[in-house]
Formats: sequence, C-alpha cells, structure tokens
Amino acid sequence: MRVLVNAGPWLAVPPPGYGGIENVVATLVPALRERGVHVVLASVASSTLQVDELISAYDDGQFAELQKPYNQVMGIAHAHQAMVAAALRAREDIDLVHDHLEVVGPAVLSALGGPPVLHTLHWDLRKHPAFYGAFPPSIAVNGVSESQLARAPAALRSVSLGAVHLATPLAAYDLRVERGGHLVVMGRICRLKGQHVAARICQKLGLPLVLAGPVSGRNSQDELDVVIHDPHHPLHGHPDVRYHLDHVTPHLDGELVRWVGAVGGQDRDHLYGSARAALFPIQWDEPGGTAVVEALALGVPAVGLRRGCLPEIIEHGRTGFLADTEDELAEWLLRVDELDPEECRSEARRRFTPSVMAAGYLELYERVMAEAAPQVRRTPEGAR
Ligand code: UDP
Repeated sequence: MRVLVNAGPWLAVPPPGYGGIENVVATLVPALRERGVHVVLASVASSTLQVDELISAYDDGQFAELQKPYNQVMGIAHAHQAMVAAALRAREDIDLVHDHLEVVGPAVLSALGGPPVLHTLHWDLRKHPAFYGAFPPSIAVNGVSESQLARAPAALRSVSLGAVHLATPLAAYDLRVERGGHLVVMGRICRLKGQHVAARICQKLGLPLVLAGPVSGRNSQDELDVVIHDPHHPLHGHPDVRYHLDHVTPHLDGELVRWVGAVGGQDRDHLYGSARAALFPIQWDEPGGTAVVEALALGVPAVGLRRGCLPEIIEHGRTGFLADTEDELAEWLLRVDELDPEECRSEARRRFTPSVMAAGYLELYERVMAEAAPQVRRTPEGAR
C-alpha cells in the first residue's frame, strides 16, 4: 500500500519541540512502515523522519509565520497543498492520501478528484462552522476522540469513520525517570490549556509547578521578549502573548511556579517523566490530548478537568483524577501519590502505542479504499 501522508507546512516531522500534529505523524509513520506501507510524506524539507519519499514546498517549518495577520499568511498552506496536488496529478501510484492539513487539505483534495482521502480531524470541531457544516462528501474523516466527534456538525459526522485515539512511542518502551517533586503542565501556553488555573492552585497549595510550552510559537523568554519589547512586532498583541503576560507571568516566582519555555526530546521526557503528576486544567473540550497519553506512558498520573477527551483517556482513581471544579482539582492534586505509576504505564501499553494507532488507521485505510474503489480507482493503462 502506498500512502501519501500530508503533515502540512507548519513544522518539521518530528517537530523540534512543541508540535501536536507533527508528533502524531512522527508516531504513526514508523508503525505504518513496519507493516509494509510505502509512505510518501508531504512536509517541509527539514523533516528528518525516516520515510520512503519526502515532498515539500518549504525548506523549514512555517509555524512562527502563522501567527501573523491572515492576509500575510493565507498563501502558506495553499502553496504547500498546491505542491501536494501537483504531486498527485503527476503520479498514479498513490493508493490513499492521509491528510492532516486543517481545512485547506480537504478543500483542495476534494476538488482534485485524485486518490481516496482520509482526513484526520485534530481540532475542536466548532471551528470553521461554514466549512464543516457543508463538508465535501467525497472526503472520509476520522476524529481523535469520541467526544470530539460527538460535537461535530452533521455534515462531518455523516462522513466520519469514527475515532482513532492518539498514541506515543513512549508507550512502547519503558522509560524510567527518577521521580521529582514537581507537577507539570506540558502544552502550548494559552488560555485553553489553563496554565493560569494550575499556577493559582499550586501557589495556594504550595506545590512546585513547571509550565513547559511555547507562547505563540516563541520557545523561550528571550524569544518572547523580542515580541514584547517591539510594539510593531506582528505578534505584539497576540492573545497568547497577552495571556502569558497578564495571567501567567504574575504567578512566575522563580521558585514554586516556573515557565521553562518549550522543551523537546530527552529534556522533555526527563522533565515530564520525573513529575509527580501532569495537570490538565483545560478550559476547552480538548479533542485528542497527546500530552495526556504521554504522561501515562511515562508512569505519570494525569489530573484534569472532566471535559473533552479527558474522561476517555484517564480512568478516575486508577490512572489519574477527574474534577468538575477548580477546588475539586486542588483536592485531587493532594492525593496523586495514591496512584500507581505502573497502572498508568500498563494502560498506555494497552491503548496508546504506535502499533495500536497504526492498526486503527490501517483498518480505516482499507475501508476508505474499498468504498472509493468503484469511482476513483484508475483503469490500468491499456485496459478497457
Ligand atoms: N510539547 C513539547 N514541548 C513542550 C510542550 C509540548 O514537546 O514544551 C508536546 C507535547 O509533549 C505533546 C504536544 O507537544 O506531544 C502537544 O500536543 P497536545 O495534543 O497535547 O496539544 P495541542 O496539539 O492542542 O497543542
């Protein structure tokens, strides 16, 4: 089977640090190739993931550009997707496109009429109501959790093949890091992820908290300072920058609550794996939660608010705690040491390995190809 996996132009695969979708692709592709799938990856040229072929429109990730005004950045995804469309027009050997590029992916691919497409929805599906409300019926989709799909508009649900949960390579090997005393929020610094709630609770309880993640694509205080000190910088008034300044920075005391910027690779695994618990005080319906499955894989209990995909991933009282209010969250945080790290690890090994995710996707690929067969399979040259 020959699959074009479209990761989009935003970040290299694997991503150098933060990178939700690129991490998913970096987790899935090796497991697909182990099963004999030939993978053509559409990404940026700096991607280092082992694939059979790499195609790209950009040398490097464009994520930092994405934060600029729309009229300056609207061409980025389109240039990438035009490159994908040209590649698909130029060759006839792709059996399926597995697309991860928000909106532009399905919009272009449905007009192209090329190989069958499975588009994975990684987002909150209340976004883009006009597009999702009249989704192209020729594109099959899947979600990353049942709760995400339950909130989808009818047009999307009608082409949905169900949910495939996210996964992490950490679930497939047994990384053991000595436990420290800190709690962690691992994710983009933005209101949706609720870092201010975590900081408020930890300061009240006197618990050390580390916040890790980029602010609007900026990976460190130095990078962020450039934005803050230049009133003409395109990100100067960005909501995530404002959020960090107004709601996170006041809690950063250098001792109990620290922001360490974005962390990647072994640094991330070490910081995360040594935490007493991972916090998810989410202020939205988190669709997939890679950071949640990563915590479990590292034997770190996950404690969060009961919304979005969290109840599908966390088993209350075994692999973490789910709370309905901020006060309740604080109470559960005091009890995290009652949870057994081995229960977290074994749940991750059972449900969130790359191999489980690849099996889920291969099943969907087969379904999409079988359903598309009469319309789009090309007649071999010379045949009647
Ligand atoms: N992440 C990272 N470094 C950071 C913060 C986050 O590597 O400093 C990773 C995190 O481990 C996870 C991904 O970025 O793999 C975030 O994915 P998630 O689905 O949790 O959040 P979202 O896609 O909504 O940002």
